[in-house]
Amino acid sequence: MSSRQTKTDVILIGAGIMSATLGSLLKELVPDWEITVFERRANAGEESSNEWNNAGTGHSSLCELNYTVEKPDGSIDISKALKVNEEYQVSRQFWSYLVNSSLIRNPRDFIMPVPHMSFVQGEQDVTFLKKRYEALSNNPLFQGMEFSDDPGKLMEWIPLMMKDRTTNKPIAATRIESGTDVNFGALTRTMFAHLKKQNVDIVFNHHVDDIKRTSDGLWELKVRNVDSGTVERHSAKFVFIGGGGGSLHLLQKSGIPEGKGIGGFPVSGLFMVCQNPDVVAQHHAKVYGQAPVGAPPMSVPHLDTRVIDKKESLFFGPFAGFSPKFLKSGSMFDLLTSVKPHNLVTMMAAGVKNVSLTTYLIKQVMLSKEQRMEELRDFVPNAKSEDWDLLVAGQRVQIIKDTAAGKGTLQFGTEVISAADGSIAALLGASPGASTAVSVMLEVMKKCFPQHIKAWEPKIKEMIPSYGESLLENPELIREIHASTAQTLGLSDNMPLQKARRTVS
Ligand SMILES: Cc1cc2nc3c(=O)[nH]c(=O)nc-3n(C[C@H](O)[C@H](O)[C@H](O)COP(=O)(O)OP(=O)(O)OC[C@H]3O[C@@H](n4cnc5c(N)ncnc54)[C@H](O)[C@@H]3O)c2cc1C
Repeated sequence: MSSRQTKTDVILIGAGIMSATLGSLLKELVPDWEITVFERRANAGEESSNEWNNAGTGHSSLCELNYTVEKPDGSIDISKALKVNEEYQVSRQFWSYLVNSSLIRNPRDFIMPVPHMSFVQGEQDVTFLKKRYEALSNNPLFQGMEFSDDPGKLMEWIPLMMKDRTTNKPIAATRIESGTDVNFGALTRTMFAHLKKQNVDIVFNHHVDDIKRTSDGLWELKVRNVDSGTVERHSAKFVFIGGGGGSLHLLQKSGIPEGKGIGGFPVSGLFMVCQNPDVVAQHHAKVYGQAPVGAPPMSVPHLDTRVIDKKESLFFGPFAGFSPKFLKSGSMFDLLTSVKPHNLVTMMAAGVKNVSLTTYLIKQVMLSKEQRMEELRDFVPNAKSEDWDLLVAGQRVQIIKDTAAGKGTLQFGTEVISAADGSIAALLGASPGASTAVSVMLEVMKKCFPQHIKAWEPKIKEMIPSYGESLLENPELIREIHASTAQTLGLSDNMPLQKARRTVS
């Protein structure tokens, strides 16, 4: 069997949004570095980054209630909401740079203005929403947020959700026009197409089986051609493990001490999708509700307008579930094989602590379509089964580790794990996810290339004007950046529904 061998500066494992972003940043900063990408699937953006596998929300805390928590004194902690929003502004700036540099031709191919709304029912949640609105709406990052508990106004905002609604419970919503729907799959593919033109070697159908350190300080990857079975060896000075759900196994194989003691908890997802144009035409927003009791934060129900391949549809969900796979196209043994002597106790502790969550997820898997329709009818009272189809979404692997909160704590965020010498880094976790790819990849660069970051700063600032500054402390800068990125990304005119429809058709 022939065995190809290469040596390069950088290897990116996985062709998802994270590798696409890191590759694009590095190519702008150091165009002469050689970069190779290995992807087990036949194309870029086939796993979580694919548009049919995630909800496409440009997460900026405009509508996600789980990013604002009510403190015991009744006030609202908005710190996480501010952080997530600020990170999204960083992504918007980099995407605008790609558009302005003609690296992305038409922003409409991946981003659309779609109002973001939160919708609640019942006295307690209405009070919470009002307090959340009061805490956020004066902040320039949330400018334009409106609140209403008037059924007439809600009918105007969300006719599909209000039609035939019979309830005595109080209801309320917030709405902000500056929300976005992002086709992360299209964005990923566009970035890889551009990287290919810049001589990045993108190798599909190649699965990275193993990673080890060689005596000359490089990282050597054992890479298997999934079609022919041929095994190749490729080495690089720097490796980014951007394998999404596949990252944990690869991190473990690298053997770096920073990867010890960490486990993964897979959560599967399902959406219900409506493509009936008569129904789709009655809704134009991403509307987030409250998570049901016992549900993990990533299964907050929402009813979303999506724009995929220039066609609008509605997604409802995601319904979380349990599957031992770490990737949608992964193996039923993924969870089992991720348990190692160094994370066994942590995993067992997590297992004991999360019995109720696991039970919840298993019950969710067992739901029939009609039971799911009943949950949907909380949002769309007259939803008809024949208009909605089930769609399997991507897998998320939540991080399990020992923290100050105790052994085997389940984490719902993302985390960059890197070797002390910066020669390898992995991204674990899935939330807030693709929306914050640029901030997260800047973090990888800071951790792994501290010797270069100073020299790179002017170029980074050209790409991301707010780099190194706190938007929160600089409201004028927020306004400037918001306006300029909205203009470049075609979001500025807060397009009314009919006009947006004409543009996408
Ligand atoms: C149901 C759901 C809803 C979501 N909704 C949103 C949302 O609304 N907004 C948002 O911002 N984020 C959302 N996310 C999160 C977001 O999709 C992810 O954070 C993001 O796509 C992760 O990108 P990635 O590049 O790390 O991983 P991926 O896109 O999964 O890419 C990893 C790639 O690595 C490849 N790979 C893995 N192992 C190997 C190996 N050993 N060798 C070679 N290749 C390998 C995989 O095939 C894959 O192509 C959602 C996720 C899910 C599952």
